[in-house]
Amino acid sequence: MGFYHPQLRPKPKPKPWHPSSCYFSCLPSPPPQPPAPLTPPSLAPWTPLSPLQKTANLFPIRREVYGDGRIFDITHRYTGDMPSMGSENGLGQFLRLPESMKNGSFANISEMKLITHTGTHVDAPGHYYDHYFDAGFDVDTLDLEVLNGPGLLIDVPRGTNITAEVMKSLHIPKGVRRVLFRTENTDRRLMFKKQSDTSFVGFTTDGAKWLVDNTDIKLIGIDYLAVAAWSDLVPAHLVLLESREIIIVEGLKLDDIQPGVYSIHCLPLRLLGAEGSPARCILIK
Ligand SMILES: [Zn+2]
Repeated sequence: MGFYHPQLRPKPKPKPWHPSSCYFSCLPSPPPQPPAPLTPPSLAPWTPLSPLQKTANLFPIRREVYGDGRIFDITHRYTGDMPSMGSENGLGQFLRLPESMKNGSFANISEMKLITHTGTHVDAPGHYYDHYFDAGFDVDTLDLEVLNGPGLLIDVPRGTNITAEVMKSLHIPKGVRRVLFRTENTDRRLMFKKQSDTSFVGFTTDGAKWLVDNTDIKLIGIDYLAVAAWSDLVPAHLVLLESREIIIVEGLKLDDIQPGVYSIHCLPLRLLGAEGSPARCILIK
């Protein structure tokens, strides 16, 4: 450790001003500005398309499989005709276009109104536990590591709910953390039927208990709107959500995919305070 003579001490370089370093502290605060009116941005640089150009080759491609058969979209498309629990006539209109270019707006801007447990979606612990709901265990708290990683797509025996006996018969190895259960709900194409149906299959309470007690599964996927059979709806959900370690993904589209090991990816929205959220889910081979 030494001391510089004051004249020999290297002069500190003047710091270049950086907007992020002292933007708020160094500058006198600007006078408050009135909010700018929302005027449409100029369209000048663009040449309007001719009517022929407007309609040429405008055929959107909608896919279920991407990347030469490697990526499967296991999310149901949101439509007014998809089932909604308790509805005879499906989801109905959930999307509208309050700002429409046909009505003179500079852009199309739609808005939606949707129960958060519609279509392919996740359940957070607050869905069935009110004290978890109050404490904030919402979809924003779900672990992305659980929602993304290797897992199994398996077929369960048909003609039965997922009971303890069925779970036992599946011989899911310890260490498997993510399992998507394909059931007869897929064969019956229940998610493609407008009218909601309570005859779907799902976990019974003893099946859920068996899973919690005997497996390492933390992500459970199912192919209808509820993970638990209608008769066991509340108790089976309670068993699965109690530890707050298990994430439930409901309403998956598992048609036409070989059972096996996949990389599962599920991304719910960060809806603060919501106990459910639509999620985009894919499988990668
Ligand atoms: Zn749900």
